[in-house]
Amino acid sequence: MSNYNWCHGPHCHTNQTQSRVRGSGDNKVLRTIKIKQGRYNGYQNGIWDYFCNQSCLMDFIRLHLTSMIAIAPRSKALETPIKVEKEKYESSRWDWNNCIEGRPQRVPCMATRTKILVDNDNG
Ligand SMILES: [Zn+2]
Repeated sequence: MSNYNWCHGPHCHTNQTQSRVRGSGDNKVLRTIKIKQGRYNGYQNGIWDYFCNQSCLMDFIRLHLTSMIAIAPRSKALETPIKVEKEKYESSRWDWNNCIEGRPQRVPCMATRTKILVDNDNG
């Protein structure tokens, strides 16, 4: 088992960086970046074990988008059951009608916020 992957970016080997130059004399090439597996300890499901950077990831998605969507097509919207609650709370606002030395004053007021509660039983 190899501990390395080649970057899957379709254009990785065309980026003109020193880190991609391989070979000697008149036989130099730009080579796809070699990626050490687990370099970010599985961050974002290990996606960075296959792509050297976000540019290569996006190039791959653009090239293979149709195939990727075909793997898991979505023909209807998904829904998450929720409850919506309105809640009054003490807040403050700027009062521009009663300025002191040209400055508005902070005054207390009641405000309303909407809380979205997810039903975890259906989660
Ligand atoms: Zn790359």
